[in-house]
Amino acid sequence: MATTPTAPTVSLAVPAQGQVADRAPASAGRVTTVASAAVIFIGLTVLTGWVTGIEALKSIVPGLIVMIPNTASGFLLAGVSLWLMRREQPARGGALAARVCAAIVLALGMLTFLERVFGLDFGIDLLLFPQQVRDYPYLPPGQMASNSTVCFSLAGAALLLLHAEPRTSPHWREALATMGLAIASVALLGYSYGAQSLYTFDAAAGMALFTALGFACLHTGILFARPRRGRVTLIASPDATASFIRRLLAATILVPVAAGWVYIQMRHLDVLSRAGGIALLMAVTITVLIAVALTSGRALRTAHLEREVLLERERELRAVAEQAQAEAETANHAKSNFLATMSHELRTPLNAIIGYASLMSEGVTGPLTEAQQQQLDRVRVSAQHLLSLIDQILGLSRLEAGKDQVALRDVHLPWLVQETTVIAEPLFLKRQIRFVVDPPPPIMLKTDPDRVRQILLNLIGNAVKFSDDGEIRLRVVHDRERGTARFEVSDAGIGIAPEHMEKIFEPFWQVEMNTTRRHQGAGLGLSVSRRLARLLRGDLTVTSTPGAGSTFVLELPA
Ligand code: ADP
Repeated sequence: MATTPTAPTVSLAVPAQGQVADRAPASAGRVTTVASAAVIFIGLTVLTGWVTGIEALKSIVPGLIVMIPNTASGFLLAGVSLWLMRREQPARGGALAARVCAAIVLALGMLTFLERVFGLDFGIDLLLFPQQVRDYPYLPPGQMASNSTVCFSLAGAALLLLHAEPRTSPHWREALATMGLAIASVALLGYSYGAQSLYTFDAAAGMALFTALGFACLHTGILFARPRRGRVTLIASPDATASFIRRLLAATILVPVAAGWVYIQMRHLDVLSRAGGIALLMAVTITVLIAVALTSGRALRTAHLEREVLLERERELRAVAEQAQAEAETANHAKSNFLATMSHELRTPLNAIIGYASLMSEGVTGPLTEAQQQQLDRVRVSAQHLLSLIDQILGLSRLEAGKDQVALRDVHLPWLVQETTVIAEPLFLKRQIRFVVDPPPPIMLKTDPDRVRQILLNLIGNAVKFSDDGEIRLRVVHDRERGTARFEVSDAGIGIAPEHMEKIFEPFWQVEMNTTRRHQGAGLGLSVSRRLARLLRGDLTVTSTPGAGSTFVLELPA
């Protein structure tokens, strides 16, 4: 009997919302590498400027604010820390060095911030190039601007948080880096628009252009350090949504910034009134916002429609699969019913054949010659064999139809073993095989004794069938830990090859499937036994060595 047919399973992957691809494009990983290299470059360039006294290296554009040595050192340390942490698993020493650098950056930012706010002096401002620093009009000399202190504090803290990942969430790091990026962007905007108030918040100090650029690089690098995690996946993923967001972000940032710049240039040239300029800016901004809204809407609608189509197709496939399953089940049921009926119809005449053959061989209908007696014995044995085959088929079809029930009751294990032994003994007559039964533990089992006996007799029968000599042993072990009783039937017979180990439990399957078979049987005993074992909430398994013998284990709850 075939196993229950299974219908094809249909699974159509529709990406759930928020389930952004976990792969980031290679370019996203490179952002941090490039950014950290740029930050280190900026720090080194400015320090070289201080060592050599070349003005242009300290301020890019002569005449603008210069970057003081403390800021340059901060960049060098932060850049090194980010470079060491650009990969998820840095070397041991690298990770420690990166943490130390991040901690110094955090301390530098926080201490200078406190100096700025409370007018303190921790003696850290003039550690490097004190004489040269005093030549500049910034006050207090050597002290970085307050917006720079905040940016360093944010960067130091974010770099330390980067170390704690992935044990911690990336959200705080992202938040800190975004704040730092915002401060740097405002300063850069101030430089490009000529608005000093956007980068100078102190009476006699401001963020240099080079510094603003450095912070923009540093915080962008920190933000994209782990492009597969956190909110940056929205921008950094290789999927269509992320590329769409990237384009939208570029438009929403660049167009208004460019419009603002044009406005300022026109004001300088005096070709535009203030009101006219603001109106123009408004018009550009509104246009950008409308374009963004329309593009997003269209993308959303397309995604929604595609999802609908996919869901519809999934529904159709599921319906087809369900129908196929139902048809297969009906066919299987019909087959089981047919077999059950047929088996039943065959049993009745067979019983008659066996009955009449017995009567004849007992001489009830008159004396028989020796040849007739022999032939009658063969008729009886063959009929008995056929009957047992039909019984097995009937048993399996009942099991498959789910009609078989087990009747659990309390059973004394030694009694059950004794009963089985008595019935099994005739199997060993005329054979060179010893049957050894180990004394079973005196426990009670809640099980169906008839079914257990049926399984054990089947196993012992097989052991006899597939052994030529040696001994067959029946042993019961009470496994207290697993709460089970293990019935082991072992033989020293032909054994089973590893590749056949699971197949022998399939219905109608035998190792010798071809016509050269030496052993009788339909290949049903083990499959029926395993199903019965599972019906009893246990299992039937086998271990075997070809040529050395097999051990079948029936494990039942104790
Ligand atoms: P069968 O009626 O053929 O014995 P089973 O389902 O009981 O059917 O067994 C299936 C096959 O598993 C057998 O044909 C035989 O090849 C193999 N088998 C079962 N028991 C043993 C054993 N003790 N030693 C070796 N092979 C075995």
